[in-house]
Amino acid sequence: MDIKKLISKLTLEEKASLCSGRDFWHTKSVERFGIPSIRMNDGPHGLRKPKNTLSRESVPATCFPAAVTLAASWDRKLIEDVGSAIGEECQAEGVSILLGPGANIKRSPLCGRNFEYYSEDPLLSSEMALHFIRGVQSRGVGSSLKHFCANNQEYRRLTINAVIDERTLREIYLASFEKAVKEGKPWTVMCAYNKVNGEYCSENKYLLTDILREEWGFEGAVVSDWGAVNDRVKGLLAGLDLQMPYDGGFGDKKIIEAVKKGEIPEVVLDRAVERILRIVFRAMENKKESVTYDKLAHHRMAREIARECFVLLKNDCNILPLKIEGKIALIGAFAKNPRYQGRGSSHVNPTMLDSAYEEILRMIDGKAEILYADGYRMDIDEVDETLLEEAKKVAAESDVAVVFAGLPERYESEGYDRSHMKMPESHNRLIEEVSNVQDNLIVVLSNGAPIEMPWADKVKAILETYLGGQAWGGAVADVLFGVVSPSGKLPETFPKKLSDNPSYINFPGEDDRVEYREGIFVGYRYYDKKEMEVLFPFGHGLSYTTFEYSDLRMDKKKITDRDILRVSVKVKNTGKMPGKEVVQLYVRDVESSVIRPEKELKAFEKVDLKPGEEKEIVFTLDKRAFAYYNVDIKDWYVESGDFEILIGRSSRDIVLKDTVYVESTVPVRKRFHRNSTIGDVMSDPTAREIFSSFMQGILRKLPRFAGAEGDIIQEFAEMAKYMPLRNLISFSGGVITEEMLDVLIQKINLGKK
Ligand code: BGC
Repeated sequence: MDIKKLISKLTLEEKASLCSGRDFWHTKSVERFGIPSIRMNDGPHGLRKPKNTLSRESVPATCFPAAVTLAASWDRKLIEDVGSAIGEECQAEGVSILLGPGANIKRSPLCGRNFEYYSEDPLLSSEMALHFIRGVQSRGVGSSLKHFCANNQEYRRLTINAVIDERTLREIYLASFEKAVKEGKPWTVMCAYNKVNGEYCSENKYLLTDILREEWGFEGAVVSDWGAVNDRVKGLLAGLDLQMPYDGGFGDKKIIEAVKKGEIPEVVLDRAVERILRIVFRAMENKKESVTYDKLAHHRMAREIARECFVLLKNDCNILPLKIEGKIALIGAFAKNPRYQGRGSSHVNPTMLDSAYEEILRMIDGKAEILYADGYRMDIDEVDETLLEEAKKVAAESDVAVVFAGLPERYESEGYDRSHMKMPESHNRLIEEVSNVQDNLIVVLSNGAPIEMPWADKVKAILETYLGGQAWGGAVADVLFGVVSPSGKLPETFPKKLSDNPSYINFPGEDDRVEYREGIFVGYRYYDKKEMEVLFPFGHGLSYTTFEYSDLRMDKKKITDRDILRVSVKVKNTGKMPGKEVVQLYVRDVESSVIRPEKELKAFEKVDLKPGEEKEIVFTLDKRAFAYYNVDIKDWYVESGDFEILIGRSSRDIVLKDTVYVESTVPVRKRFHRNSTIGDVMSDPTAREIFSSFMQGILRKLPRFAGAEGDIIQEFAEMAKYMPLRNLISFSGGVITEEMLDVLIQKINLGKK
């Protein structure tokens, strides 16, 4: 198909019409040239295809665990499999583009859509998004990586201006998308609703063209989030191709007028049309007729996936896994009515739904006694004393109690944020009161984002299942009774309380402005730097088996920023059960002239080990593992020096470390001026040499240095570290003149004596 030729035959009106949707979910067709319309639908953890255009009800689809849950697996292959299964369901439903994944950073635990996002860490987030995209697209279905970018809250999401300094934007908020774009090559990227640094994302040339396309090489189409267009003409010029959904044709008209007036060069419109048509025709080429999928097989898969994602936060006295014996109390309405996905555009109509209660009954098969109590009401937060008393009675009569608690669906949704990090009073009281009558207490949590756990010390085990999808119930049974060992790790920090969170003071902002004043110190980058105690750290998660780490090796002790460092480490399963461990590699810049986090995640790998088995994991680190974003040179930059390579079971449990020296090959020469300080000059080797030889003679002429012993330059420089060069004139009592100073600065900048 010669798309360029086709475009040359289209009228201006036809071209403009292709740049917006036909309705909520389709692109437009141009019948006289056989240009078809394609369909796109949500969303990140399953397909939400409305039964008809205006319907709120969607066709049944497999509801996989939500993004936050999948990220807790830290498993690239697993997330690719999920993407692939969803892609297959898209083919079966005639959907050409899936609106996901979401790669926004979890800046605050309060963001209403945190369950749709992966992590507080850009590397983990970007890796998960990348593999999800690969999975979806392996089926010939496009993905739409969203919401680009810095859509980190729901509060005033359509108008808020996220004010973010350049380094933070690069290192955290853009980095979270970067790898997914560069390596995942999504067919489309969805621009976010909000503004970034004063410019709507939908009309932000810096984001949509300079970075996304020119720097990262994105070749697909940019689609607006639904209703994100503010100024259609500006948007098109900035790089926004497709406006969604249908807006009555107003946007198209504006494009036509602007082209006629010469405000939009026609080539700009042609380019947008070309990008859209390439996707449309790619979708048609990849469309598979009469695809069906095995609903039961996908449901089973959803169960296997979910149990790889649960995070065992605590397991005192190895109370888990449970044995099938005695009396087991299951308490909490969630056991029968699972809380398994979030609210909003990602909400899937599941093909089936397992409850933990039923699945546990099935698992114990009459070999133990199950007692049950609701414990709380689903529709209100307040304690129902009768239900509470019943629960206590059931717990007291049993050998062990499992309480199902967390956040009700109304707490977490697209469209609004939470205002606190607490569970409902009825859930907290239930756990507290049951802990008074039953020592063997296990809490199973369902929630899409961190919560406070005032009762954490009073229970023996906590299993964080996040939002586990439609097969959550079976997966819970599998993990509680040890069919598999839990192997999830937290993709985010659980702070002790909300006010510990670095964004606390500046979330969600004032009116239409939110300033990201915590800068790069998001999540563990902040808690670590502050040496703050947290409830559960980033990367934490226990297992039923044990792992031993050894033999950390690096292939070189000294590299340049052009080299690749190979790091290997051995991990052995020293316990009695098969299990999986997520080996985490963090890098710490030992000394830096810029403010850097204590350490940053730079590589990870999930490894499957039988009892007694040992494997060697090999990581390769390139420049980016050591670099920070240098705003002066507008590039990633490694400052020469020592870097620690830290291998951890979590961000707070580092088990092995070594040091590598990395030499920068990028000469970064500072420009010096009258207000550069003596300290600045002395810290640059060339400037230091020129300055020292200049000052040598002069200092000797000054009465206070006459006859002084030792290194007078050093003595002077230490004392005058913060003195600007201009002060040399008054300091020398006029021995140094304005002209001499100008010449000195010139020489320093030229690097010549
Ligand atoms: C959401 C997107 C979603 C779109 C279509 C918007 O409100 O922000 O994530 O894909 O609606 O449902």
